[in-house]
Amino acid sequence: MRKRVTIVTTENQQQRIIAAVDAAFDEQLTFTADLVRIPSLRGDENAAQDVLEQAYREIGLTIDRWTLDAEELAEHPGAGAVSVSYENSDVVVGSFAPEVQTGKSLILNGHVDVVPIGSERLWSRSPWEPHVAEGWLYGRGTGDMKAGLVANLFALRALRAAGLTPASPVYLQSVPEEESTGNGTISALQHGYTADAVLISEPSQTEVVRAHVGVIWFSVTVTGQAAHAFEMSTGSNAIDGAYAVIEELRRMEEEWNERAATSEHFGSHDHPLNLNVGVITAGDWPSSVPDSCEVQFRVSITPEMDVDESWREITERVQVAVQSDTRLNRSSAVAKRLGFYSDGYVLEPGSEAEATLSAAHTRATGKPLGEVAMPGYIDSRCYGLFADVPALVYGPVGEKLHGADERVNIESIREVTRTLALFIAQWCGVTEA
Ligand SMILES: [Zn+2]
Repeated sequence: MRKRVTIVTTENQQQRIIAAVDAAFDEQLTFTADLVRIPSLRGDENAAQDVLEQAYREIGLTIDRWTLDAEELAEHPGAGAVSVSYENSDVVVGSFAPEVQTGKSLILNGHVDVVPIGSERLWSRSPWEPHVAEGWLYGRGTGDMKAGLVANLFALRALRAAGLTPASPVYLQSVPEEESTGNGTISALQHGYTADAVLISEPSQTEVVRAHVGVIWFSVTVTGQAAHAFEMSTGSNAIDGAYAVIEELRRMEEEWNERAATSEHFGSHDHPLNLNVGVITAGDWPSSVPDSCEVQFRVSITPEMDVDESWREITERVQVAVQSDTRLNRSSAVAKRLGFYSDGYVLEPGSEAEATLSAAHTRATGKPLGEVAMPGYIDSRCYGLFADVPALVYGPVGEKLHGADERVNIESIREVTRTLALFIAQWCGVTEA
């Protein structure tokens, strides 16, 4: 029996796909909320990965699952420095392979890890007990990015419910470590997963991400000299020294933002490059001069900047502080890579993948596809820079990402899932079941 292969989906097929997304949408929201209940914090992603693996299995995908390997990752230039145990951080890939391939292959990627909750008392409700209010789903990881991760799954499911089978390979990737290194997606690359296009359903306000910044995580450890507080001047206060380092790096940050004014995609942004002082660890006694202070930073760079050159500049500026600031007269300061070590990425306009996404978005929502430059890290650079695959980022409307009362707009999840399902059909082609 010959199967009829359609590369360009018909109006009837598109209607069936949209109807299938809508029919399963309540189930999709329940699945998303259940996933939010699992606190898939860094280094502890596997309970959530179990749920994704099972769901991928249930729609007939072939499962590949492996544990991140720090040694293997260290061989890749795009990997971030590893500072945690990976024993509970697996990558899960569900693969669909048609009998005969006629369309183009596709990776749908999303990250399962979420960032810490901050102070729980600042949340209106528990961050791990998702709830719906006025069209929004609340909880840690709702927007960033469990809604998108689950939308990838339900988009593929909708095709099948509509009686259609993709005419080329589709890979669903659920990765850990996006919020700290990008090592989950780098590892998927190392394990040979590539395709004609990649789509990552990060919360992008239903626009396509034209560019994103690169990010470097690093620590600076200031080592001073302990002394009793009553003879403070005989010691060297590492916390005071850390202030000197922070101030020097703030000057570097301002210079970088002046340079960013000429950036093609970030030049119009107000202060696109942010140095964040994220963690400070120091001191053990109010009456002792602290002899050690570790500060952890995150800083971003434009796509025009080079990560190696930027890192060199950071380490030089730390030594400028040591040499020029009296607070560091009898102290040392050492900078060390901590996680992210990433260039920025630009999705070059004009790709067939983007045109296909744009058409799917317009069909699903009735609106033209906008674009946005993201001043944060996204895994799209992994495929875009190291595999030369057009890496689209397109996902729902999220707010207060990484903050208290994080939320995702429910209607935007529906729009995104419709768009993704139509995109898969059009990009991969479909076969009538
Ligand atoms: Zn994210």
